[in-house]
Amino acid sequence: MPVDWKTVPRPETIGQELHDLIRELFPFRRSLTGDGVRQTLAVLAREVRLEVVETPTGTPVFDWAVPREWTLRDAWIEGPGGERVLELADSPLHVLGYSTPVDDVVSLETLREHVFTHPDDPDLVPYRTSYWQEEWGFCMSRRRLDALVEGDYRVRIDSSLEDGSLTSGELTIPGATEDEFLLSTYICHPALANDNLSGVVLLWALARTLGRQRLRHTFRLLWSPGTLGPLCWLARNRERLDRVAHGLVISCVGDPGPLRYKRSRRGDAAVDRMATDVLERRPGSKVVDWQPTGGDERQYCSPGFDLPVGVFSRTPHGLFPQYHSSADDVDFVTPEALGTSFEVALELIDGVERNLRYRNLSPYGEPQLGRRGLYQSIPDGTNPEAAYLWLLSLSDGSSDLLAIARRSGIPFDAISEAAAVLEAHGLLERLP
Ligand code: ZN
Repeated sequence: MPVDWKTVPRPETIGQELHDLIRELFPFRRSLTGDGVRQTLAVLAREVRLEVVETPTGTPVFDWAVPREWTLRDAWIEGPGGERVLELADSPLHVLGYSTPVDDVVSLETLREHVFTHPDDPDLVPYRTSYWQEEWGFCMSRRRLDALVEGDYRVRIDSSLEDGSLTSGELTIPGATEDEFLLSTYICHPALANDNLSGVVLLWALARTLGRQRLRHTFRLLWSPGTLGPLCWLARNRERLDRVAHGLVISCVGDPGPLRYKRSRRGDAAVDRMATDVLERRPGSKVVDWQPTGGDERQYCSPGFDLPVGVFSRTPHGLFPQYHSSADDVDFVTPEALGTSFEVALELIDGVERNLRYRNLSPYGEPQLGRRGLYQSIPDGTNPEAAYLWLLSLSDGSSDLLAIARRSGIPFDAISEAAAVLEAHGLLERLP
């Protein structure tokens, strides 16, 4: 069933709202596990009835296991003169993600071994994690590190790694059928706006909007820590994955770069074809083929699952200079980009909702259109006869409306409207 666009906020309005929400969520200390993720989900839950799902430490998930939960309470470095050189309070990026605790006095030389800097830009603080190897560490700008004088440094990271759980947010929006549309984003990055929060808030906006629609598909929305979150979801839903008819990973949708869609591993899934159709109408946007590097699509599209899940983004991971650094901040993402990303993502979803399949109920010869008032004797350039004929010709159950639109060269909307007319005249039957 189509999205009722009258109920959908304008891109300018929603873009500003999403930008404000990014600003609110920015300071939380998100990581692979821990309270930063829970705080973020709690804010999203103010308007979207998501369910918080906890998967305990040690739970096996395919070739992985849920790690211990990381809690970071405070961190700082004090210089030889007792001055604070670095503080967690200034930015969550200042501590290596999953850093083990430390409370020590070390030489500058030793400190340097535990400080990460940005490889290219001396003024940026990098985002670094060490999930699977235990070490302690800080992140700071190269310029700040180079300015440190010889002497003893007091280093303090008040953190713990304990049995706990990995936290995800899930929401199911029931539709008329059990065919599912999966929408997924990651929620594990601290203080990064485009690479993470833009996807978090876009999915939230889609949840709120889709919750007000009458939908054909059942929508399953997932906010979860990267890689492990989708693996936990796949493990929990393993017996019912054949219901997933379409899916999108949403990632990096707030920067001013062009819109981009990355095809699923299948390459020709309905969502892949619809993304091509929708993005062709947005000048400058790109559709690229599947590749096994990237984000959570690596799990959904792994060969054992091979789900029809593509990636909706703007400039993807690693391809913008602000990536994984303090420059990926609230000012890097714009209300305009967020608003348009929302609008186009919803157009794509709406297209898939309307991409029905029909069967011609009068396939022996051409049905007499004139008798039904469907034939205009004087073509004026606006008559839909060509769309009728294409629909009657190709509606043998194997082609969906988008396939008919692409083969005929007639826009999808016109084909969709013509199909509704033929259905009303008893010439087409909608297939499940
Ligand atoms: Zn990232």
